[in-house]
Amino acid sequence: MKYKSTRGGADSRSAAQAVIQGISQDKGLFVPDAIPELPFSLEEMKDKTYQEIAYAVISSFFTDYTKEEVQTCVAGAYDEKFEASDIVPVVKGGDAYFLELYHGKTAAFKDMALSILPYLLTTAMKKEKEDKKIVILTATSGDTGKAALEGFADVTNTEIVVFYPNEGVSEVQERQMITQEGKNTHVYAIRGNFDDAQTGVKRIFNDSDFAEKLADLGCKLSSANSINIGRLVPQVAYYVYAYAKLLEKGAVQAGEKINVVVPTGNFGNILAAYYAKQMGIPVGRLICASNENKVLTDFINTGIYDIQREFYLTNSPSMDILISSNLERLLYHLSGENGAEIAALMESLDKNKKYQVSDKIKEGLAEFYGGFADVQETNETIGNMYRENGYLMDTHTAVAYKVYEDYKKATGDETVTVIASTASAYKFADSVAKSIGLPEEKDGFAYVAALHAKTGVRIPAGLKGLEDKEIRHRGVLDINQMQEAVRDALK
Ligand SMILES: *Cc1c(COP(=O)(O)O)cnc(C)c1O
Repeated sequence: MKYKSTRGGADSRSAAQAVIQGISQDKGLFVPDAIPELPFSLEEMKDKTYQEIAYAVISSFFTDYTKEEVQTCVAGAYDEKFEASDIVPVVKGGDAYFLELYHGKTAAFKDMALSILPYLLTTAMKKEKEDKKIVILTATSGDTGKAALEGFADVTNTEIVVFYPNEGVSEVQERQMITQEGKNTHVYAIRGNFDDAQTGVKRIFNDSDFAEKLADLGCKLSSANSINIGRLVPQVAYYVYAYAKLLEKGAVQAGEKINVVVPTGNFGNILAAYYAKQMGIPVGRLICASNENKVLTDFINTGIYDIQREFYLTNSPSMDILISSNLERLLYHLSGENGAEIAALMESLDKNKKYQVSDKIKEGLAEFYGGFADVQETNETIGNMYRENGYLMDTHTAVAYKVYEDYKKATGDETVTVIASTASAYKFADSVAKSIGLPEEKDGFAYVAALHAKTGVRIPAGLKGLEDKEIRHRGVLDINQMQEAVRDALK
């Protein structure tokens, strides 16, 4: 299987090359030239472990990796680091099944991909005889940064630089990042929002002079954001696994459709669900849930993507995004792989801050449903779910559940539904605690303690004692200082 650029202007690559490179030279994203079929029947997958399914999915996409290579990557990634023995529990809450993707080291779903990406990348470097040091640049809305730092800390021949929006992440998220250990880790707050950070990172990638300077230093850039295909493919596995678990529970019969609801920011997670559907998992509607930054809701409803709008800081900060990078991949597939068309849309986004898709793409969007929830609705949803079912959701997951409730009301569709549950409630402890009726506390850490005292839900190991850890990263930068920061990190 080869990987091509969504903008049609570059040569194709093997999976290993695409993982190392991160983003294509023509600024497009790498996509597989065909979506592979599931390597087993729906009946056969019922009793498979997470590791078996991850192996099967990843090796179907990454055909240039040997069987042993993929097995080693999977075994290294999905082990006791996860605080759930089945890696991704599927739990009934209210009217839906929650796919709990947050039992890894940093308590967010980003661990699902970022526990394995360092293995996939170092394997790729060996395969491609890449002897340069790989410098991982990461823009984060809060969760990717910490998961990438954990994944790459002290990995030989790599350096990792993370940029997060100053005041755009929760107190717990920030503390997780700025206390990160590891000789090769670098963390900066930037004066701007996530889109600024992501645009800055893309700009560094596209600066060929800078790439030459780095090459002289024996270094090469790569990405841990979901623009890297090595992030996306491991995420497909958990949607396949979700279906296997529902079969096992008897919640569905083989072949019966499910709906999937994904709280969406950069469109990576929901794109992985789309790929799982293309592979043969029976999925009906892909429900894309947004917070007040509802550019995707509007896009799905109108075919017009318009970022000229107010930007809101919400209590689901990982979705405070207006430029959803991975949407480019979906548009490419829906356009019939028309790279020139996608390049024109992305240029329009750059220049005019909006674009309108063709009727063909718009028709393809019909399998998606878009909805959004505001902060107040999110908090009410957390409170109601806890009161009625004793189930605790984080703010992002609650956005998804609220949109699901609205979807059901609007359509009457009673299809068995899986909600991608993307973070531990403790990462957003202040909002969650207040939503279930707990009083004001002095800081985010006091909310963690209060939430635990009330609910008894286990605190993820990675979040314990965070307030007492040494702060190791204090840099705050302007957007135009990001490149300099990367150079400094390599000294
Ligand atoms: C990253 C993140 C999201 C958004 O996922 P995308 O793949 O960017 O759409 C949602 N919830 C949480 C908790 C996240 O960390």
